Amino acid sequence: MAKRIGVLAVQGDFAEHIAAMNEVAGAEAFPVKTAAAIEDLDGLIIPGGESTTIGKLCERFGLDQAIIAAHARGMAIWGTCAGLIYMATDIADRPEQQRLGLLHCRVKRNAFGRQVDSFETDLQVEGLEGGETRAVFIRAPYVEAVQNGVRVLSVFNDRIVAVREGRLLGTAFHPELTDDRRVQRYFLQMIDET
Ligand code: GLN
Repeated sequence: MAKRIGVLAVQGDFAEHIAAMNEVAGAEAFPVKTAAAIEDLDGLIIPGGESTTIGKLCERFGLDQAIIAAHARGMAIWGTCAGLIYMATDIADRPEQQRLGLLHCRVKRNAFGRQVDSFETDLQVEGLEGGETRAVFIRAPYVEAVQNGVRVLSVFNDRIVAVREGRLLGTAFHPELTDDRRVQRYFLQMIDET
């Protein structure tokens, strides 16, 4: 049976994620906006966008508690960019920013600086067979520090840009904006493995 993948559709590039995931065999991706819709998913994708806005809207609609509860029952979560920020336990210099606090790491927002606001590069990512993937970074965060149990999957210029902790996956870049679907497939495999 196809895996049911909800894409959090409150703000950000959820449409691109839905389209990209639906290109992969074995996945059925659709937008989710309500706590009830989050209850019976195999996986949830939290897209890129603006992490402060995503945090505020999720709190207002009770989605934050629904996500935390569904994850506790086994739902996998993949966050890209703002989604990664929102999943983290710590956000550098922003202790007050709303977050799920699930992925045990400290992220730094807009961390690559103005000079390289947005850029693309070829990136080696652990777990993706067949070599580097094209990675698109847009005002991206990086992971400054990880706690025990968090595996670093990719590093760019000495900065951590992809991590995995159990059923949680975080990427600072945007696999939904290229035509390489290996990260989507990695996420689907993760649901089976853990
Ligand atoms: N800079 C955004 C934030 O801090 C993230 C950018 C993105 O998701 N592309 O939330």
